[in-house]
Amino acid sequence: MADIVLPDTLRPADGRFGSGPTKVRQESVAALAAAAPRLLGTSHRRPAVKAQVRRLTDGLRAFFALPEDHEIALGNGGATLVWDAAVHGLIRRRSAHAVFGEFSAKFADGVRAAPFLDDPVVAESAPGTHPVLAGVDGVDLYALTHCETSTGVAMPVARPEGAAGDALVAVDATSAAGGLPFDPRDADVYYFSPQKAFASEGGLFVALLSPAAVARLDEVAASGRYVPPMLDLRIALDNTRKDQTYNTPAIATVFLMAEQLDWLNQRGGLAWAVKDCAAKAGHVYDWAGARDWATPFVADPAQRSAVVCTVDLDPAVSADRLTAVLRDNGIVDIEAYRKLGRNQIRIGVFPAVDPADVERLTGAIDYVVAAL
Ligand SMILES: *Cc1c(COP(=O)(O)O)cnc(C)c1O
Repeated sequence: MADIVLPDTLRPADGRFGSGPTKVRQESVAALAAAAPRLLGTSHRRPAVKAQVRRLTDGLRAFFALPEDHEIALGNGGATLVWDAAVHGLIRRRSAHAVFGEFSAKFADGVRAAPFLDDPVVAESAPGTHPVLAGVDGVDLYALTHCETSTGVAMPVARPEGAAGDALVAVDATSAAGGLPFDPRDADVYYFSPQKAFASEGGLFVALLSPAAVARLDEVAASGRYVPPMLDLRIALDNTRKDQTYNTPAIATVFLMAEQLDWLNQRGGLAWAVKDCAAKAGHVYDWAGARDWATPFVADPAQRSAVVCTVDLDPAVSADRLTAVLRDNGIVDIEAYRKLGRNQIRIGVFPAVDPADVERLTGAIDYVVAAL
């Protein structure tokens, strides 16, 4: 199968179409290399690195048009850490979760395992769809997932109907943030990692916090519950206010994310990114819809993600063979999420991905399928 060689016209200039980690722009890497002698390997408590943390948080404030009274907590551990931080420091007694894939299920499992919390309320739906969360008496935190990266389903960020006035809305926006529409007033905690739409490396988490979320952190800590310092978002917040992190961060991750935020903001910020991703995803879904051997996995167009596009293939076209041939030709990471167990491809069309490369990619897939 290594014999199938793509013609040059069908070779994307950059072959990275993963859903996380995602393409890191080479221009950002070059900027990092230029800054490195004065940055990498220097103290994260000194001005050179603190200025980069500040550039990152200023960039986020501008990108999301964050209201004055919302804050940013930055720390090590990635979005996965925020689930544990929420279990320990944000949920008063009982949470409710929209579960529709691997990532949303993991957070609900973490809550279920915590002996000091009630069992969570779970609204679940089949892979390829999302459930609707309604208000439930006694629930003090609603957990949404803006884009379920394992299936390519996106759900709107909105406060559940009937939710108590002081209930929080916490949104796992790890792949969505930076590519899907979002108004900061619709969530109390909007958290994500840098290695998806923000085209950086992994390791850090970012949590955008409303005043109600900050008040809840104080309330839970004051209740006497033990909150391990690494999971204490108040400590992360205190440090971020001082342009640093609680413990040592990967400085390259901070720099690359700040660089990407500048790039995004120069282009028009979130509004530009939303339009750009929607156009690229539209191309992928239209292309799949027009092939008799391909179908968008998410049946309802309103639930299709504009950053992670999942496409089912006819059993006659092996996704394993297709992705192996593409990998030999430099096109990587369009394999489906393993545990989903489908004959599927998954294409990340984050802001850093060039629209022309998405068109070359679908052309390349046509070419390989014809040749197989
Ligand atoms: C990638 C991803 C995560 C995990 O992010 P880490 O940085 O590896 O912790 C969590 N949730 C969603 C929706 C994701 O896409």
